[in-house]
Amino acid sequence: MTRRQKPLRIVITAGSTREPIDPVRFVSNYSTGYMGACLAMEACSRSHHVVVILGPSTEPFPRGVQVVSVEDARQMDRALRRRARRADVVMMAAAVSDFRPVRVATSKLRRRSRLALVLQSTPDLVARLPRLRKRQVIAGFAIETGRVLPRARRKLREKHLDLLLAQQISRRGEPFGRRPVRAWLLEAGGTITALGRCSKAQVARVLLDKIETLWYGRTMCASAC
Ligand code: C5P
Repeated sequence: MTRRQKPLRIVITAGSTREPIDPVRFVSNYSTGYMGACLAMEACSRSHHVVVILGPSTEPFPRGVQVVSVEDARQMDRALRRRARRADVVMMAAAVSDFRPVRVATSKLRRRSRLALVLQSTPDLVARLPRLRKRQVIAGFAIETGRVLPRARRKLREKHLDLLLAQQISRRGEPFGRRPVRAWLLEAGGTITALGRCSKAQVARVLLDKIETLWYGRTMCASAC
């Protein structure tokens, strides 16, 4: 960012969400919030204004970042809608739990030999986010098993994203936490950039470079994994 360019207002969702089963148990996933922390760090180092809507996570976030803590998908949805209205950029790094129990027990469920949980889908936060600002840039993340690109392309289209960072799940437990990722950056125009195996800090640099290019209208700098 040069001195004449206005800092961006960036909203980042990060971490997982927890969907309660009873007062002591929940449905969730392995997301730690580290990707969101890398994005926040990178955005702050470029002097942008950053709000993080954070599901349960123990990751430290840089000073100067406004952190809004949420627990479940519906809370994240409400917080996101409120903040996204004024945002130039929305980065959906949260691994929103796709399912939640239909019924939440009000007291602790007793131990038993079998328990069947009925789950229903949570709202797709980014797909139903109103596009209120014309130039707003929306970036999503996807973690896939098997063939990554066909699914990633479909998500980019169906969720109306400008950018999608797709990552492959490996047997080594990648891409959760501080482990490296194998990633591709997909753009709404059809361009796909294979980033190879890289750290989440590198992913954050590549993504912020691309977003600044889209926003300010020219090549800022070229990070590569
Ligand atoms: O889980 P999925 O691969 O569909 O996630 C892709 C993108 O959609 C991510 O950016 C994620 O934050 C977002 N998402 C969402 N609401 C959901 C599930 C995912 O906004 N219920």
